[in-house]
Amino acid sequence: MKKILVANRGEIALRIMRTIRRMGIRSVAVYSEADRNSPHVFFADEAVCLGPAPSTQSYLNADKIIAFANELGVDGIHPGYGFLSENAEFAKLTEKAGIIFIGPGPDAMRIMGSKLAAKECVKKYGIPMVPGTDKAIEDIDVAKKIAAEIGYPVLIKASAGGGGKGMRIVEKATDLEEQMQRAVSEARSSFGDGSVFIEKYISSPRHIEIQVLADNYGNTIHLFERECSIQRRHQKVVEESPSSVLTPELRKKMGEAAVMVATSCNYRSTGTVEFLLDDKLNFYFLEMNTRLQVEHPVTEMITGIDLVEEQIKIARGEKLGFTQDDLSVNGHSLELRVYAEDPSNDFLPSTGTLTKYIRPQGEGIRVDDGYEEGMTIPVYYDPMIAKLVTHGKDRASAIQKMKEAIRNYKIEGVITTLSFGLFVLEHDAFLSGKFDTQFIEKHYIPSKLAPTQKQNAELAAIIALKYWLDKQKEIKPVEATPTNWTIRLTENN
Ligand code: ADP
Repeated sequence: MKKILVANRGEIALRIMRTIRRMGIRSVAVYSEADRNSPHVFFADEAVCLGPAPSTQSYLNADKIIAFANELGVDGIHPGYGFLSENAEFAKLTEKAGIIFIGPGPDAMRIMGSKLAAKECVKKYGIPMVPGTDKAIEDIDVAKKIAAEIGYPVLIKASAGGGGKGMRIVEKATDLEEQMQRAVSEARSSFGDGSVFIEKYISSPRHIEIQVLADNYGNTIHLFERECSIQRRHQKVVEESPSSVLTPELRKKMGEAAVMVATSCNYRSTGTVEFLLDDKLNFYFLEMNTRLQVEHPVTEMITGIDLVEEQIKIARGEKLGFTQDDLSVNGHSLELRVYAEDPSNDFLPSTGTLTKYIRPQGEGIRVDDGYEEGMTIPVYYDPMIAKLVTHGKDRASAIQKMKEAIRNYKIEGVITTLSFGLFVLEHDAFLSGKFDTQFIEKHYIPSKLAPTQKQNAELAAIIALKYWLDKQKEIKPVEATPTNWTIRLTENN
């Protein structure tokens, strides 16, 4: 491969291009009008504008991306994550145009893109699954019967769901009908597919996922786990590897199960098999993500393997250069997703311009970002500014580095999740490793957040005002003394 087009934006486009350059390959960036001045555009060897800001007119325009790739003599397309990365049709069109899709084959993507088809596919391998239905449910009476058998609370899920959307917890039978109607209409509008199914709602599970890597020659291995239980709205904010709850035996067992899931759909490239782990350390298959995951850097930090490089090598037909036995966990790594969101206001997006933007630096600190000072966070896309990653010899040192890095990350102009990250890292539940996906509901107290840059600025303004008012009081007695000058003024009036 001589030239790769990265069909994405922001931090992930930049991160992929860095590896492409290191491998001596040329890179092509695509961008929307809103991203004209983004770092990924300047970093690439060539760049083409896809069109207006909305994703449907830019980053999701498969035909246009492939047409540009052809025009520019591109021989590989890397889709990153999000946008077209899990679109089997895009993968197919790419290959049809004679360009290599850097990812899995379209069939594996299609199977794993549907949570129901995925369950069906892995069933014969004896992988433990969350109790529930393995078919789409349309009839409310059938749904009621199944929910009663499983036992409340249950979770209604969209088969085509992703990003934590299309999920509804139902606590009691009387709520089922209404929640099901809502779930179907949400699934239809968000994913164009109204199929929903029912799962037992596992109370207080941990989200543990396994990174897998597979080549075209039947070699499939795993790169250990990522603990992703700190979530808001069923979406991850803090991730780490290794997980403090996995024993070597459980790690091996879950790793082998993940390899089996990948094998079940003839997987190639990088992929992630997601599991829920209950409080008795039983694990259940959730789904497989057929792409590079946002949180992949923690795995890179503890294994020393560049996952994008592996994706490219596999795509150009190379065999994996190492085996399962060659891999081991080196130290500990943490990732904090730095979102332009207000953690004191239900994590609502905080849009604006980065009036100050200074990255933390130091040994064991990695910042994957796609912004510079002065840039505005576009409202059209995911509000993630950066991924702050640390690596230390053990968990305590990775945590210490992350705390230091958060304090040295200077972001002004938008509110971010940095203060939330600090709250998590200082909380006993996190420090002791005894936490689950309900961390926010159980432990989070927004008023305990360290003051944000904005609050600090407001505080400084109040102090300055108070100082000025005090000064005014001090000079008042002088003003009160009658002088000729003031008398004359009065006379003139
Ligand atoms: P998505 O594809 O939308 O990301 P997932 O199936 O991966 O959905 O689940 C996302 C998160 O939702 C999980 O990490 C977990 O916190 C929660 N979740 C999913 N299924 C269940 C379940 N059966 N019981 C409890 N929590 C669940």
